[in-house]
Amino acid sequence: MQVVRSHQSHRSFSSSSGSVSASPTLPLYRSAPELEVRLEDFESFAIDRLRVLKGISDGLSRGKKPDEMEKLVNELWKTNMRHQDSSQVPNKDIISHFVLRLVYCRTEELRKWFLSMESALFRHRFRNQTAEAQRAIMEEFDLPCKAVSNAEFESLKEKLGQVARSIGHNLSLSTTDAIYYKVPFEEVPELVTGRKVFINQGYAYVAMNQVVSLVATIFRSLLSKALILTNRKWATSIREQEQHRLTPIVEALCSSYLGPDFSQPKEYGEISLKDIDQVAKSSFPLCMRHLFEKLREDHHLKHAGRMQLGLFLKGVGLNVDDSLAFWREEFSKKVGLEKFEKEYAYNIRHNYGKEGKKTDYTPYSCQKIILSTPGVGDHHGCPYRHFGEENLRAALSRMGVNSRAMEDVMGKVRNRDYQLACTLTFEALHAAPCDAGINHPNQYFSDSQRLLKAKKDSST
Ligand code: SF4
Repeated sequence: MQVVRSHQSHRSFSSSSGSVSASPTLPLYRSAPELEVRLEDFESFAIDRLRVLKGISDGLSRGKKPDEMEKLVNELWKTNMRHQDSSQVPNKDIISHFVLRLVYCRTEELRKWFLSMESALFRHRFRNQTAEAQRAIMEEFDLPCKAVSNAEFESLKEKLGQVARSIGHNLSLSTTDAIYYKVPFEEVPELVTGRKVFINQGYAYVAMNQVVSLVATIFRSLLSKALILTNRKWATSIREQEQHRLTPIVEALCSSYLGPDFSQPKEYGEISLKDIDQVAKSSFPLCMRHLFEKLREDHHLKHAGRMQLGLFLKGVGLNVDDSLAFWREEFSKKVGLEKFEKEYAYNIRHNYGKEGKKTDYTPYSCQKIILSTPGVGDHHGCPYRHFGEENLRAALSRMGVNSRAMEDVMGKVRNRDYQLACTLTFEALHAAPCDAGINHPNQYFSDSQRLLKAKKDSST
């Protein structure tokens, strides 16, 4: 792939197997196509695909059923992977996949996540192909399977029927409708362990509607190898060659936050100083509640904590004067008024774009907070990630999370699904679903305020 500046035209590209735009089938991403990509498409296509993959990841972590996942993936794909020029959709698909390979090849953890999400997406898309397109993909993958002959099918019909019935499928008894493939059984571990196939003399007999498992296994294994190779190329040449252009984009993409920036207070986000203690209790997520309580207790926070809480408060609508009054009230108890004005007030005005470069800084997303690395004496970070189990349980219980919800939350923490743990906490405390999941502390706040206001309105 060749990345070009935006003034150069963006033309269709062809892969080794012909024009991508003309290909009606699911791309297999076997090799990077020869193409020119505009720099802004390089990033924006990748962000759109990332929205799809993150949506799949959320759906899976929330335990959605197969039919719910089917609907979800359809919607995610339709919403994010469209293009104003519909003939460019296949190009967008391939470009975004290869850009994300670069982004997610760089560590074991990133590779694992990308592999799982791309495989889930591939499975879903394969299932939606016509039988003919599915067969074409199987041929392209050169799958180690042979079609079962009519004579063999007749001789095994009864056994195949028993297995099909045991997994709730109906086997067509007509030799013309029933298509089976013989595959060395080690090629379909998922079907074998789930006892979903008939096995005879080292072969698994895979029905056409189960072929997805076989194809997905091959897809996954090819992608896994490709990611290792891409990582090698990235580390030995691309990172250095592209250090001023693509490298910063690639390195930022895997931790990018894809929602609104919350730099301006939202509809339910206006708070004033007199309400702050009460709203901290009712509507701050645990990360901010912890910082807020520590500030009230110690009358001090280190720089990273001041930034995390200060920008959050700005996002929920505390204006610069109220913010100064708030920090002054606490810090002056510890460091004195003079030192506060000299050493701390500047930074607070700076966050509001009133000093220095006059940049209007945006509140931190969950991604950014979760990836921070608090040291001893620091209180910033995400408690679901950075607290020990005992401390986290105590903090959740102080918030009012009951013991049943607590176990669900702790389960998600053990799986390192920190944002999902926070979402379950939100749902337990507000007795309401939060389908979009928590992605930003300011989103937690505004969703909470919206629900509390709706409750108040309905009771008056
Ligand atoms: S998941 Fe996000 S909002 Fe929740 S505690 Fe962690 S950083 Fe804060």
